[in-house]
Amino acid sequence: MHPNSEAPRPCTSDESVSAPHWPTILPGSTVGILGGGQLGRMMVLAGRRMGYRFATMDPTPDSPAGQVSDIQVVQDFTSVHGARELARHSDVITYEFENVDSGVASLLEGEAYVPQGSRLLFLTQHRLREKRAVTAAGATVAPYYPVASRRDFFQGLSELGYPSILKTCVGGYDGKGQWLVQTEDDAEQVWAEIGHRFFRTSAPPDDASPSADAFLVLEQMVPFERELSVVVARNPRGQICTFPVAENIHRNHILHLSIVPARIPEETARRACDVATAIASHLNLVGVMGVELFQLEDGRIFVNELAPRPHNSGHFTMDACATSQFEQHIRALCNLPLGAVELWSPVVMVNILGEHVAAVNSALAEMPDCVKVHYYGKAEVRNGRKMGHLNVLGATVEDAMAAISQLGIWPE
Ligand code: AMP
Repeated sequence: MHPNSEAPRPCTSDESVSAPHWPTILPGSTVGILGGGQLGRMMVLAGRRMGYRFATMDPTPDSPAGQVSDIQVVQDFTSVHGARELARHSDVITYEFENVDSGVASLLEGEAYVPQGSRLLFLTQHRLREKRAVTAAGATVAPYYPVASRRDFFQGLSELGYPSILKTCVGGYDGKGQWLVQTEDDAEQVWAEIGHRFFRTSAPPDDASPSADAFLVLEQMVPFERELSVVVARNPRGQICTFPVAENIHRNHILHLSIVPARIPEETARRACDVATAIASHLNLVGVMGVELFQLEDGRIFVNELAPRPHNSGHFTMDACATSQFEQHIRALCNLPLGAVELWSPVVMVNILGEHVAAVNSALAEMPDCVKVHYYGKAEVRNGRKMGHLNVLGATVEDAMAAISQLGIWPE
């Protein structure tokens, strides 16, 4: 075993769960997935091996998940008609992205079996609600200030100091909808540039007090040492498991590498898993959830964000763990016992974006045997678009990193 390897963490049972009234969804049943992207595709591929059938709903025909599903419902994500059709085909419904339209979510909850419910979506669709839920679970987030007016913005800056980051409460991802505020001059400029976009008038009422309805949130910039993440799974009967902690490196706000085991002390890894477990338990999670964390130099751990679905930083589990995050999601959803999460090998996951596809393809014929290639079947190659990933196994994470750098595809 790698010297940094975490000891396998056994599943725990959520004491709060009383008599389990949840049905077990047996193989042969059809799982409906809202969304046809790569996360859905990998759910389908894992679930098919277990004997499940799949229906997906996505506006794009031949979507990554649609290609490998039994049934494709080609409808917009907001289509009530489409959601009904998906429900008609499905014994159980899940989703592969968090911005599920609230009308569709409640329709599905009323007309189909959606064990994940809509509450977790409701919380994670809004940064302030999410921060409050994380805090209520006993975890810590970076100091923040809700911004519903210009006055809030400047008051927030005076309390949090510089640098801080202004973020939209809804809809931001991969660094979109975020503005770094490093100085007072930046502050004036950022507000002049974006303030009017989020308020009906260019001079929002100064008496607007910070509230859950704030459109923006100011966050103190955390001087983190590392970004970590934990994929946590929970099934309806209250079994909870955390996958090994990933150490994540981003480029241009997009995940570049996930290094597992993370290069952190065992005790830090344990605390990261404890944070994820506490949140999963508090929120009565069903399925898997990615918990993004900042690890500070002094060892403190702040929660950055929750993703109530399989997570890009959990793709390493497909080749390096006893159970993949996708199989685990299907198990949890169907109320089967969770699978073992033991790490079989150190691994580094590297994302293949549009700009890397040509180089990866040219290297395919000579790819070392420690490299596992995953492509998502997307027809259109665009810069910055996630097209696939490599899981590179090694005796150590350093060996795996060296193998990636020898490929010469990603600039150092
Ligand atoms: P997010 O969309 O909130 O996950 O942010 C994207 C990336 O911006 C994170 O992965 C961090 O690298 C960085 N970031 C976001 N919020 C903070 C913060 N409060 N302090 C430091 N870095 C941050």
